[in-house]
Parts: sequence; structure tokens; C-alpha cells
Amino acid sequence: MKEQDPKLIKKRFLKELKDVKTSEEKKKICKKYLEEDLSSVFSSFKNLPAAEKARVGRGANELKQLLLTKMEMVKETEKEETGWLDVTLPGKEPILGNIHPLTQMQKKCEDIFSKMGFVTIEGPELENEWYNFDALNVKEDHPAREMQDTLFVKQKGREGLTSKEKLLMRTQTSAVQVRYMEKNKPPLRVIVPGRVFRNEATDNSHEINFYQLEGLMVGEDVSVANFKAIIGSFFQNLFATDVEIRLRPSYFPFTEPSFEVDVSCSICKKKGCSACQRTGWIEVMGAGMVHPNVLQSAKIDTSKFTGFAFGGGVDRLAMIKHEINDIRLFYGGDLRFLKQF
Ligand SMILES: [Zn+2]
Repeated sequence: MKEQDPKLIKKRFLKELKDVKTSEEKKKICKKYLEEDLSSVFSSFKNLPAAEKARVGRGANELKQLLLTKMEMVKETEKEETGWLDVTLPGKEPILGNIHPLTQMQKKCEDIFSKMGFVTIEGPELENEWYNFDALNVKEDHPAREMQDTLFVKQKGREGLTSKEKLLMRTQTSAVQVRYMEKNKPPLRVIVPGRVFRNEATDNSHEINFYQLEGLMVGEDVSVANFKAIIGSFFQNLFATDVEIRLRPSYFPFTEPSFEVDVSCSICKKKGCSACQRTGWIEVMGAGMVHPNVLQSAKIDTSKFTGFAFGGGVDRLAMIKHEINDIRLFYGGDLRFLKQF
């Protein structure tokens, strides 16, 4: 004859459940109590004296509830343990991300240049002072080398370090071009996309880091005319519309002659609008013929080879193309912004 008092059964059940470890064992115990002990209470119910019926009935119902709850809990734990999957549950729609607008722009640039024979190369973001400045003909006293423009890395005993030992976060990707020229002989056609760092206050057109895209072509008889043709073709493809290119004289330590590159405003077709500040032209990059000192740093024969180099911000290109008015939006991580691309 089985125990008929729900209270005592409950006590025994909880003790048995506590004594076992695995979900499998716990499930067995719950099942046994539901099928045997509880059923036995219910089947003997009709023989009870009337006075007892109410008490036992209430107890039996409470016990049933407890057993079912425990059974569910064990099943849940088991699911977590075994990764059990209920294939009948309705599916959850996966949230698909999209590619960041800067990455999209970088890939687009790489695609266009690769069709013109340019190879994409990469280099370290933590650079030494020699590659970042000296090899690029940026003299010791150039303001860009001062602390306010460049993020230098603290190094113990920095006093005695040579420029090849002093570390900094690269301020442009040109260093990679020098590294590449050291290891490869002309003719060369490369583009260098990558993240660069500046020590500056942020506003709607400045960030402490941004993405740059630089390019280099070195060979015999490479001239400004080659540059203008290639860069013109690049912008036609990038903006998918007819754009004009304008070169204005400028100064960079690593090129001679140097120029700023403007493209005609594709929004107003040179009539003047807010995007081009009513000038009809938008400044997009700096460029020039590679300075002989830079070629010599990379041990390239300057009597035989010439080359051009150019560099601009990927952020800036994306801002022009998508008419974005604040560079900080790219780095804010705001999905409402990022999902638009
Ligand atoms: Zn315009």
C-alpha cells in the first residue's frame, strides 16, 4: 500500500529530487511521482472519509502542480545543457547587418583601381617615425612632427631613441608605399587604403582617426598627364557621372610639383550649391610627382624612374557621394544612420 498523504509524498519527492544530479534522473523521478504516487492518491480518493476528502484533495492538487512545474524546469535545464532544439517552434528572423559605408566606399575604390592595374597593399597602423616622416621627406622641424598633430606612443627611455625606434600611430598611409618600394622594383602601381590617426579636436569634418586611400605609380616616363587621366577615370567611375578634374598648385614635402585635386560638383553641375560652397568644385585629394628624395629613400634610381602619388580621405569621398555633413556619424555606431547604406 502506497503512502497516501500528499504532504508526506511531497516531502519525499523533494528529497529524492535533491539527491540526484543529472536532468535525466530528475526527469525519471518527476515521471514516477506523476504516474505512480499521484495516481495512487487520486485512485484511493473515493474511499476516503468525507472529512478527509477536502484536505487530501487540496493537497493532491498542489502536489500535481508541483510535479508538473518541476518537470518543466528540468526539461528547460536539459534544453540548455544539450542545446536541444524544438523544431516546431516558430523561427526567429535573423537580424542581418550591412556593410559599413566606409568599408563599402573603400571596396568600391579598390575595385575601380584594380581594373586599372593597381594592386591593393596594407601596412602597420603602429609605425615608426622614420617611415612616417623621414623617408617621406618630412623634415625634423616640420609642424606635423609636433605632438599636437601626431599621436606618439609612450616608450621608456624615449630620449635616446632613433627615428626608426620611435613609435607613433601613423598619420598617413604613405609609409606603406615606402615599405613597398623597398621590396619591389618599378614599374609599380599600388593603392594603400587604411586607418590613420591624428591628434586633433573633432568637429563635423575632423576626427582623430579616419580612413585614407593613397596611390602610387612609378615607372619610366610617368607624368602628370598619366595621373590626370587615371584619377579622372577613377572619379568618373566612382560618382558614375561625368566629372571634370582640376589641379591646383600646392605644397607637400613628399611630392614636387604638388597639387590639390578638385572634382566638378556633380550635384549642381558647377552652377554652385551648398555642397561645393557655391564654387562648383569640391576638393578631394592631394597629389603630386613623387619627390626624388622619397624615391631615393626607397633606393629607386631617380635618373630612370619617376612617379606620381595621391591621397585622400575615404570618409571624405563617402561624405561627398552620400551627401553626409558630419564625419563623426561614421564612428558613432548609430544604427539609424548605418542602416541607410
Ligand atoms: Zn555644387
